[in-house]
Amino acid sequence: MLQLTGKTALVTGGSRGIGAAIVRHLAREGANVAFTYSSSGEAAQKLVAEVDALKNTSGQASPAAGATLALQVDSLDPIAVQEAVSRAFDHFGKLDILVNNAGIFELKPTGEFTMDDYERQMGVNARAVFAAIQRAAQVMTEGGRIINIGSSLAERVPSPDMSLYAMSKAAVWGLTKGAARDLGPRGITVNIIQPGSTDTDMNPASGPHADGQRSLRAIASFNKPQEIAAMAVYLASDAARSITGASLLIDGGANV
Ligand code: NDP
Repeated sequence: MLQLTGKTALVTGGSRGIGAAIVRHLAREGANVAFTYSSSGEAAQKLVAEVDALKNTSGQASPAAGATLALQVDSLDPIAVQEAVSRAFDHFGKLDILVNNAGIFELKPTGEFTMDDYERQMGVNARAVFAAIQRAAQVMTEGGRIINIGSSLAERVPSPDMSLYAMSKAAVWGLTKGAARDLGPRGITVNIIQPGSTDTDMNPASGPHADGQRSLRAIASFNKPQEIAAMAVYLASDAARSITGASLLIDGGANV
């Protein structure tokens, strides 16, 4: 039996990068998965086809029983995010796992950020996470799992221009701890994975700033998205029942 057979999940920002790896890993472990995306419609539809094909070949329930669902939702709109949680719940009849992954990374010197920049970065990276958790708290039951994708930059900021991003991720870390306290008595865990440099469109291992990032790490090579996904699967599993309010740093030792 796969670790997550019979579970249902919603992943925000599942069309690319770390989110897409989490969608694949959850599905490979037997979960039925819904995910959101904002602009990558083609990638989202390809991922739906890939995951549904995987279910057929692995002998799991037919896609019709719990068809993979791609929802176009802009995380900047907290009501739309809450509706996505409701739609995943209605589609599957329950929601066991919520992964808050959608994120943006915008860099400027602190004095040059505008309040529009603030609204966008805090809106997508932090407010949307609160909105999703709030709605999930209303529908999840015993055994529920909430997994937030934060950043090692919430703990340590080794280079300039990242103040707003670091602030948004630090906010999610605080939210993780508070929600873990609130939801623990109901058997629902809330944790945050804090990735360091991970090879995606957001931060390619071949990008102009990659060598500087590698020089900070004890293990120089960038994380692979699958490595973050493997931790998400573990946190979603029954084995992680007693892990809550935790920050799981996956950064090749950069913050040591
Ligand atoms: P990518 O840019 O590769 O992918 C981002 C994903 O988020 C896409 O699926 C994108 O969907 C979605 N997304 C972005 N904006 C919105 C929005 N407004 N509404 C809905 N979905 C949105 O990033 P990564 O995979 O690298 O990052 C995933 C998470 O990991 C983020 O929270 C990021 O901050 C965090 N992280 C990444 C690190 C890295 O080095 N890569 C390090 C530390 C943390 P679409 O394409 O449809 O817009």
